[in-house]
Amino acid sequence: MFFKFPNNKIVQSTREFYALGTVIQFKAYGKKADKVCDMAMDKINEIENNMSVFKGNSEVSTINKNAGIGQVKVSRGTYYVNKKAVEYGRMSKGAFDPTIRPVVGLWGIQTENPRIPNTDEINRNNRLVNYKDIILDEQNHTVMLRNKDQALDLGAIAKGFAADEVKNIFCKHKIKSALIDLGGNIFALGNKPNDTPWKIGIQDPFKKRGEFIGVICVTGRSIVTSGNYERYFMNNDKRFHHIMDPFTGNPSENGVISATIISDYSIDGDALSTCAFVMGIEAGLKLAESIEGVDALFITENKKIYTTCGIDNELEVTSKEFLRGPIKWK
Ligand code: AMP
Ligand code: MG
Repeated sequence: MFFKFPNNKIVQSTREFYALGTVIQFKAYGKKADKVCDMAMDKINEIENNMSVFKGNSEVSTINKNAGIGQVKVSRGTYYVNKKAVEYGRMSKGAFDPTIRPVVGLWGIQTENPRIPNTDEINRNNRLVNYKDIILDEQNHTVMLRNKDQALDLGAIAKGFAADEVKNIFCKHKIKSALIDLGGNIFALGNKPNDTPWKIGIQDPFKKRGEFIGVICVTGRSIVTSGNYERYFMNNDKRFHHIMDPFTGNPSENGVISATIISDYSIDGDALSTCAFVMGIEAGLKLAESIEGVDALFITENKKIYTTCGIDNELEVTSKEFLRGPIKWK
């Protein structure tokens, strides 16, 4: 169904493009949808230019080149994302660590030539990982890494920030209904155009993209999933995925293969989904339950689903292959 205005113009606008290492899709409804989608695309490109570790001139790359050398003045957005990333590092006791880059780079999971590093390499690079070495200067808006060879990777939080920024642009221009999808990092703005809640599918980690274990119904909320199926390589039938355990320097291995967070802000959902994935079921559920307005859903490798208590009314599990796990954290 489309909104139609008296002149009968359909005011739905969609965009699909590649940025931030993923496919981005906007669906927006409202009078200015077309113009606003263009503004949102510009914003995404700006965020990528500032925060990508793969762009030599990005602010993040400049911070990395100046590790152990000096402060780098950055934009409002890059400063804010670093500040939030440090908060989540602290909150997760290091399970989430935005200085993970030396380890991620070693495994090369996002590259054409991924490989299994040897233990010495892993230990050497993992020693560089420590979110406490991010030095923030609020007054001057500068960021610095304390030691040489340390490096930032905001890949676990920047997409969430970007989704919030797009939502803010949409809201500012009176868009009341939109779906912002940054490669599975989703913000559902308002309701669907027919005024019913958005139904967001939760990817079945064992099936191909677009096959879901069920749906979550939401109005004006963010839904973000960290999954071992997003980026990985196989070696001798073993999967090596992109979410690292900073305590070992290896891909996180605790039985969790997908962690979804439902929250009001996508930056929190993005950071927390990575935190939860690495922390595992019990600690992850406990963390999610402790934060007002946040819900979590985990899928394990043995096909169990665990959720926080607040999610029951919104969640509909349709796949018969999954069992609801026994733990409900109180
Ligand atoms: P996400 O898909 O949001 O869970 O983010 C995963 C991405 O964040 C990876 O591709 C890495 O670039 C980076 N990353 C991997 N492990 C961690 C971690 N433990 N903490 C923070 N960032 C991480
Ligand atoms: Mg994340």
